[in-house]
Amino acid sequence: MSDSVHPLLPAATPLLLGDAGSLQVGGVDSTDGLLLAPAAGLAPLLRGLDGRRSQRVVRADAARDGLEPALVDAVLQACRQTGLLTDLDVADLLAIGTGPAAVARAAVELPAATGAPGSRPAAWRTRRLATVVVEGATRVGTPLAAVLAASGVGRVIVRDAGVVTAADTVVGGLTAADEGRPRSVAAADAIRRASPLTDLGPLPAGLTPDLTVLTGAWAASDPLVGGADGAHLVATVRGETGVVGPLVVPGTSSCLHCGDLHRRDADARWPRLAAQLTATEAPASGATLTCLLTALLAAGQALAYLDGGGAPLTLDATVEVRPPELLPRLRRWPPHPACHCGATAGGAGSPGEGETPPPGAPPVAQATMDR
Ligand SMILES: [Zn+2]
Repeated sequence: MSDSVHPLLPAATPLLLGDAGSLQVGGVDSTDGLLLAPAAGLAPLLRGLDGRRSQRVVRADAARDGLEPALVDAVLQACRQTGLLTDLDVADLLAIGTGPAAVARAAVELPAATGAPGSRPAAWRTRRLATVVVEGATRVGTPLAAVLAASGVGRVIVRDAGVVTAADTVVGGLTAADEGRPRSVAAADAIRRASPLTDLGPLPAGLTPDLTVLTGAWAASDPLVGGADGAHLVATVRGETGVVGPLVVPGTSSCLHCGDLHRRDADARWPRLAAQLTATEAPASGATLTCLLTALLAAGQALAYLDGGGAPLTLDATVEVRPPELLPRLRRWPPHPACHCGATAGGAGSPGEGETPPPGAPPVAQATMDR
């Protein structure tokens, strides 16, 4: 491990004194932990790992306090292997921002951003530099935008030409006091409440966002939004069902047109039905629980994509939740052979097929009827 890494032990990690001078690091509830014995002088060392000092400086400071450098290295490495410790890149530190409020907000977000298995180096900096456009200040779109901003995404833009109605209000999103205001302006305020320093300015000319989130109920079938530039993710509620995905990485994963072709295969009437579904703006829908769970699942997929750690679940698939259970259900939407998007099938299963169908689930032919 390089001396230049900046070890971070989250401030909430328990340090618990045990018998005969031992020290338990983490390891409560279902998390892995470490038992150190003897542990003289190790608690201040561990509590001081706030990510701001390099391992070289940590070691030198500990030596002044009487700790052997080899012991310090061994303890840090053991914490690292147990998953208790994450390593910040210098670029992450520079991306935290200045001021105690920015530092405090980043401190609670950093461990999850930088500690995910397989996440790219300087994952926090990557989030801070990312731009996400959310199309639609809906009951899913606005809380989703606020969650992304609070999670560190540097620029979040919500586009919506409508006006707030009473039905648009939702926890973490638009409020009752916003009724009658332009939805895009009210959504920007919702983001600002969650993350005051997020850039809400318009998309600079010529810049393609890192991710566009489509929150319209039938964006997948709407020719006006089906061709979003760059990567895009569907996050919406259709009727009472929350739908997240597919996440479309153009030329790599199955696209919205692929899904449309699968629906047409299942029902030749689909193009005519889809035209009616997209002819007018869908009214606000979805219970608060459904909308927020959908927004959170979508935010998780967006961050997984932006952070670059592994393959997000919604590549070639949707995750759907329906009350009252709201248990996520995975449906596969592989590339369609007649589509020209360039995605190639990876043997992910049949269209509409669930990974783990719930008991009593209808067969695939009927499952596709609920679209
Ligand atoms: Zn396609």
